[in-house]
Amino acid sequence: MLVMEKQKVHNFNSGPSILPAEVITQASQAILNYNDSGLSILEIGHRTDAFQSVMNEAVRLVKKLMSLNDAMEVLFLHGGATTQFMQIPMNLLVEQGLASYTQTGTWGNKAITEARLFGNVEISGSTKDGNYSSIPKDLEISAGSSYLHITTNETIAGTQWHNIPYDCNTSLIADMSSDIFSRQLDFNKFDLLYAGAQKNMGAAGVNLVVVNKNILGKVSRQIPTILDYRNHIKEGSMLNTPPVFAVYVAMLTLQWLDQNGGIAEAEKNSIEKATLLYKTIDSLPLFRGTVAIEDRSLMNVVFVIDDQLLEKEFMDLCKKEGMYGIKGHRSVGGFRASLYNALPLESVVVLTNLMNHFANRKG
Ligand SMILES: *Cc1c(COP(=O)(O)O)cnc(C)c1O
Repeated sequence: MLVMEKQKVHNFNSGPSILPAEVITQASQAILNYNDSGLSILEIGHRTDAFQSVMNEAVRLVKKLMSLNDAMEVLFLHGGATTQFMQIPMNLLVEQGLASYTQTGTWGNKAITEARLFGNVEISGSTKDGNYSSIPKDLEISAGSSYLHITTNETIAGTQWHNIPYDCNTSLIADMSSDIFSRQLDFNKFDLLYAGAQKNMGAAGVNLVVVNKNILGKVSRQIPTILDYRNHIKEGSMLNTPPVFAVYVAMLTLQWLDQNGGIAEAEKNSIEKATLLYKTIDSLPLFRGTVAIEDRSLMNVVFVIDDQLLEKEFMDLCKKEGMYGIKGHRSVGGFRASLYNALPLESVVVLTNLMNHFANRKG
């Protein structure tokens, strides 16, 4: 039996990011010999019973963990969240109509750029003027809008919608790439939600899409076969060869989540980890959080040190102490600690101890 030999490191990577050690161990085993079949998971056909049961189990777990109703279809697709930026308007932005978007940072902007290729887009709320350090509070949505798109967690800016605009009077669509399965939401109130797997639910290469089948089929433009959600629903995410290994790792991660208390427990742990880190930032004048307190992300904690020399010194110290991925995104600078589901509280304890130690020495 292979086990994962891990050095003592703390993985704050923003994506691809930390996975549970059990998942890495099981996935490694499956590469060598899948379920004692003598074959690797990498060399079985996707239409075999062996893989069909992986896909079925992954779909079942998503439905269970999110308590989805029968109108909601679960798809595992290629192309990452970025493909959804264009696939959504292609399938849902009604010609001569418009779609409503919220502009909350890098990811929201990318979604807007793609939607404009298919029709009129209105910006229903924007925090661009405040450098995306908060979430829009009052949304303006025109009557007849095809849908409202939000980015529930802006991975780079470090903001998160804590009040989801469920009552927006149109279809609610959400990019949940960086906070999927981290908190309890009313998932049936979204007409479409999507997430690249590589942040909170698996390895890179697959994309989860949950869609209410009743919203499809309302546009008249021609949709290429591979981009039409209805075809993927009909074929059970096997219209063409699915990313077999990535679906398998997602299934393992979903099993791990299910066996560890589901989304309720993940949410509790997220709050505990983020609270500890934000408390530490707020208690030490050396560090400064960049996001409006009420809109802070529980997944991606962004903070800076205003003195550049000290910032570099602390970065070096983090590296020396085995902290991975703590450097902020190049567009924001400073630090970003991603606290995805698989990150243990212990890693946050080690980081905050280091911050306290450093600040006391410099203060
Ligand atoms: C990472 C990320 C994406 C891009 O995902 P890909 O799978 O690389 O296309 C989109 N939206 C958000 C919120 C992200 O964090």
